[in-house]
Amino acid sequence: MSSFTRKVAVVTGAGSGIGRALASGLAGRGARLAIADWDERGLHDTAELLRSRGTEVLPVTLDVSERDAVAAFAAQVAERFGVVHQVYNNAGIAGGALTIAETDYEAFERVLAVNLWGVVHGTKEFLPHLIASGDGHVVNVSSLNGFMAQPRLAPYITSKFAVRGFTEALRTEMLAARLPVAVTVVHPGGVRTNITRSAYGPGSAAIPAEHLKRVEVYERRLFRTSPEDAARIILRAVERKKPRVLIAQAHSVDRLVRLLPASYPRQVVSWGRRMFGEW
Ligand code: NAD
Repeated sequence: MSSFTRKVAVVTGAGSGIGRALASGLAGRGARLAIADWDERGLHDTAELLRSRGTEVLPVTLDVSERDAVAAFAAQVAERFGVVHQVYNNAGIAGGALTIAETDYEAFERVLAVNLWGVVHGTKEFLPHLIASGDGHVVNVSSLNGFMAQPRLAPYITSKFAVRGFTEALRTEMLAARLPVAVTVVHPGGVRTNITRSAYGPGSAAIPAEHLKRVEVYERRLFRTSPEDAARIILRAVERKKPRVLIAQAHSVDRLVRLLPASYPRQVVSWGRRMFGEW
């Protein structure tokens, strides 16, 4: 029996990309699933995919930035399954491609509300259930931008550095109190998903033409890992209770930042000029 068999796992952002692959990978390993997304159609398709393989699944359409909605979701999952073992706080958006000077406060607030507060809500609301299960696991998805900065992505970078700090703080607390909850922070890089096109979420304005070129370069040259491979790496790490997971380009970026903690931004800027022309 794997460590997922009959376990109840919650995946946010399960309507696309890494979240869908995680839900599918968990189902394939025998877990029961509660999945959430604000994209009703994507969520529906994931739920159908899981059901077609005989998996028990509870799909809930919600926005992870809304605390009351996540609280109601946690209560609903606990009531439906009687126990919750694992939560994968995966939902996220990229935001725009503007400089800090050009980015308005609303854009900062929106990205932080989803990427940071979504993770805080998902962690806090499910934590009592995970502790009660006696074998809990919190998996929070950060990014390689959780330890490396670059131009024109400040709201996202701010949120992902914060997710890393929040998750590592949680781990110290679980260890200090000897609570039965493992904690993992995930730093993906270069996974082929819709993330660069997500802007501020469904209904948000289309990506401006001047940013589209950058998105296309990202997709063509950097997004080389499939969501299924990313999910496999994450689930193997969860099985081994690893506290930190790096995916694809996150390995080389991690080495760069450790080697040159003060001067890596110069390397990043010259790499970006070679890659995109001007940043
Ligand atoms: P994706 O856009 O394919 O999937 C993200 C999913 O989250 C979508 O289904 C979207 O509808 C959902 N979502 C977004 N905001 C939500 C909200 N407020 N409430 C509920 N659902 C919401 O992108 P992905 O690459 O699969 O992203 C998953 C996670 O991985 C994100 O946190 C992202 O920042 C992180 N990540 C991805 C990469 C990569 O290379 N793809 C790199 C680093 C980090």
